[in-house]
Amino acid sequence: MRGLQEVLRDWEAVIGLEVHTELTTLETKMFCNCRLSHDDEPNANVCPVCLGMPGALPVPNREAIRSIVMAGLATNCEIKRHSMFYRKHYFYPDMAKNFQTTQGPVAFCMHGRLDLEVGGAGARERPDLADATATGGGILRRADGSYVVPIRILRIHMEEDAAKMVHVGGEEGRITAATESLIDYNRCGTPLIELVTEPDLRTPEEARLFMEKLQQTFRTLGISDCSLESGSMRCDGNISLRRRGEAGFGTKTEMKNINSFKSLHDALEYEICRQAEVLEEGGIVYQETRHWEPSRRRTVVMRVKETADDYRLFPDPDLAPFDLTDEFIEACRSRIPELPDAKRDRYVGELGLKCDDATQIAGDPAVAALFEEAAMAAGGKVAKGITEAKVISTVANVVVNLLPAFQSLTASQVASIASLLAQDAITFAQAREVLAAVDGTSADPGRVVDERGMRQTTDASSLEPIVDEVLGRCVDQVQQYRDGNKKVVGFLVGQCMKASKAAGAKGNPKLFNQLLAARLEA
Ligand code: ADP
Ligand code: MG
Ligand code: ZN
Repeated sequence: MRGLQEVLRDWEAVIGLEVHTELTTLETKMFCNCRLSHDDEPNANVCPVCLGMPGALPVPNREAIRSIVMAGLATNCEIKRHSMFYRKHYFYPDMAKNFQTTQGPVAFCMHGRLDLEVGGAGARERPDLADATATGGGILRRADGSYVVPIRILRIHMEEDAAKMVHVGGEEGRITAATESLIDYNRCGTPLIELVTEPDLRTPEEARLFMEKLQQTFRTLGISDCSLESGSMRCDGNISLRRRGEAGFGTKTEMKNINSFKSLHDALEYEICRQAEVLEEGGIVYQETRHWEPSRRRTVVMRVKETADDYRLFPDPDLAPFDLTDEFIEACRSRIPELPDAKRDRYVGELGLKCDDATQIAGDPAVAALFEEAAMAAGGKVAKGITEAKVISTVANVVVNLLPAFQSLTASQVASIASLLAQDAITFAQAREVLAAVDGTSADPGRVVDERGMRQTTDASSLEPIVDEVLGRCVDQVQQYRDGNKKVVGFLVGQCMKASKAAGAKGNPKLFNQLLAARLEA
């Protein structure tokens, strides 16, 4: 098979995602009062409603409706005031009622949009954008090769999850060749929202970024933990190819079992290359559901597509049509916190962070909260000669580059390490060592720095005599520097460090570097 870059020169990929998100932060299930918890003993959280006993009547969970309306508002959807629940029929042991309660043609949220920023290597998956005359699709292109593309959302509807099945004895936990199948109805009836995109995505990287942005948005709303590993966020990838320049769509396949961002990208990449090969050999792509096997890095056929008629979709007679009031929708709107894009813009505009740092911090609500608390604390402790902007950008640096390596650091520990770094009192490597020592405790990093004798002299006047002494004795190296060998400054810094250590002090290498450069260039 040819590689992705090559295939994408001849073919355009058309991708649409269907993303299921369990509303894990709710207390109870979608249509009954059972506790929402998947960690309990199997089949502990069940009742006649979620087990589909005859005569049991469903009652919709108001908080779940609130969550989906918030999700719709955050993704620029139109909120439909009038909608209904439908029954989607199928037979499988994971749904004891033999139908899933879902929404019909009109969902609570319709016709939304999310803007994606694509940069770096991901932008190279779009050779069409390299052609400066290519336009359309509302794409904004930047001089650095990155671009912003709007992705339309068809709908977000409310439904319920099925039970969890565990297949024992088979291959990779699949039903094929399994000797037994176990069912846990705790998950059955879990409130689930399904977001369906228009087929607007064009590359595996765009699909990955869309999913990531959705995860960040829903986490910020607090409606789900959105964990791909545990399955509270799941996605199906629909994909077809067409020759570049063609307007119609080709036949699509749908990929299931995607449980990481990497799988999403890799499965789409594989499927694009596979379809290209089939089409180039004169074959046809069948509309089918395929299963991604990460260990073998390939997709295999699961089943051919069933049609909507097979589901016998009709309005659920047990559930009255919904009429959302303006007050309800406005109350939902007022509960929406600052979203990642707005947060990023504020961090760049008001706090002067680098765009990459700001994007990364703003994407995770817990990280953003810690950053803001630490920036506030550090900003209040600005030392002599250091600007507040410098301290805050150092806090961002610590949050992006050091924080992920530790279990639980407090905002005040982050603030304190950032202010030591901003003053050049310790090096980055030392900061790592100090944080490892205070991780999980309430200890003050400043104390550890002092106990371990790490604090470096940042007072230039006390370091200058050392610089004088070293320059006086290393005549050869000074000459080499003046002859153009600037690298020799590293040796001189080493000599200064040694001399300051011998004198019982601890000079800061960065400061020595600056002092030496100033003297040598003079
Ligand atoms: P189905 O009825 O097979 O479920 P839908 O029309 O509901 O198909 O679309 C499901 C998803 O597939 C949507 O995200 C949609 O954008 C996407 N999609 C539809 N047609 C195509 C196509 N030809 N190629 C790629 N994706 C497509
Ligand atoms: Mg579908
Ligand atoms: Zn129940």
